[in-house]
Amino acid sequence: MSDAKFITVQEALKLGTGKVSLRGWVYRERGSAALKFVVLRDGTDIIQCVIKKDVVGDEKFKDADKLQVEASIELHGTLHEDKRAPTGYELRVDDFTVVGWSDQFPITKDQSAEFLLDKRHLWLRSRKMQAILKIRATLFSAFREYFDKEGFLEYHSPIFQATQAEGGSSLFSVKYFESVTYLAQTWQLYAEPAIFAYEKLYTIAPSFRAEKSQTSRHLTEYWHAEMEVAWATFMDIQDYGEGVIKHMVRRVLAEREAELKILGRDPEKLRPVLEKPFPRMTYTEALALLKEKFGMELDWGKDLRTIEEDKLSSLYDTPIIVTEYPTIVKAFYMKQVPGHPEVVQGCDFIAPEGYGEIIGGSARETDLEVLKEKLTEQGEDLAGYDYYFDTRRYGSVPHGGFGLGMERIVSWLCGLDSIKDAIPFPRTPARWTP
Ligand code: ATP
Ligand code: MG
Repeated sequence: MSDAKFITVQEALKLGTGKVSLRGWVYRERGSAALKFVVLRDGTDIIQCVIKKDVVGDEKFKDADKLQVEASIELHGTLHEDKRAPTGYELRVDDFTVVGWSDQFPITKDQSAEFLLDKRHLWLRSRKMQAILKIRATLFSAFREYFDKEGFLEYHSPIFQATQAEGGSSLFSVKYFESVTYLAQTWQLYAEPAIFAYEKLYTIAPSFRAEKSQTSRHLTEYWHAEMEVAWATFMDIQDYGEGVIKHMVRRVLAEREAELKILGRDPEKLRPVLEKPFPRMTYTEALALLKEKFGMELDWGKDLRTIEEDKLSSLYDTPIIVTEYPTIVKAFYMKQVPGHPEVVQGCDFIAPEGYGEIIGGSARETDLEVLKEKLTEQGEDLAGYDYYFDTRRYGSVPHGGFGLGMERIVSWLCGLDSIKDAIPFPRTPARWTP
């Protein structure tokens, strides 16, 4: 039967009747002397399959009897509706072939999060990880689709970079032959030079941060979706951020209902994101709100911490946009508000339900002297930034951009407890294998 035409489990469930051939992996199995139930899993869904000794014969049934979880098999049979089966249908098997036998699978029920991370290469097969990674793929596609439609060009920066952009303390240094260089924290300083040629750019690429503390929101390697655009105002940057988040949520709600259900995530919690404009407030207004609603006093000039972000986000069912942060807490490249050098045109998008910052963006400082001053204050050697200063020397224009953490948005939309489940193989200070 090797010339059989295989269909997916999803296609089989849609058909519901007739003779078909399926292939995949044993998700569950149980049996008796004459009857074997196999729940088959493929890349699309699961379906119950019934193998009877009196149909397949004594010899074949011995194989069925030996089947263990995660063995790979090909099955041929007839589809029937069955209300008791996990997905409502079953395949009554006429014949089958074992493609790859499976040893005793190490993952069983109720194992610790750490064990599942040790066995991540196998845990990827779980229904939970399958659902998360499908939603993740949809989010990547939606980010690209949004900016493609807006006339942006996908562009790529180097990962080996000789300078910092987000503060030296979270830089990973790597031996580079006889010298030392760093892993990218952001594409930004290599995207800005290119907007003078292409104007509207985006990327999705890994960023690296040597985050010292273990939190449920930080990875040391994460996928960073960034955009940079010439002639943009600070308001334009916020509008693009709101636009792309709405588009990403819209695509997930339209295409990934089944996966949200597997994760136990109520889609209604995400619906307001599509329907309401995101509240926008300045940092100073945010401090006043924290005081009024929660009696929290934060000294003006201190960055918002997790606790303040979580309190603020608890007031809304959409992301909020906090703008005009104190200059001293933000990166050197953010534009000072004209007439108010103590604050910058930077914006953080804070997700609802305590998922923290999902976007950090800003209008970029165009004044070369201000840039040099800030870098000098941080103790940076200006020589390394000379290529970057050229962006302000030859036809500088107002511009800006943002970075969106893909795993942050995956965590939020999937309702995950830890950002580690938002990426296939997470890297944190304590974990870099398998
Ligand atoms: P945080 O305050 O949460 O550490 P940040 O201010 O350092 O964030 P940015 O430098 O603005 O973050 O980076 C842009 C986006 O990248 C953030 O809004 C966030 O979504 C994501 N991000 C930043 N650091 C990490 C990390 N260590 N792991 C996963 N995502 C991250
Ligand atoms: Mg950070």
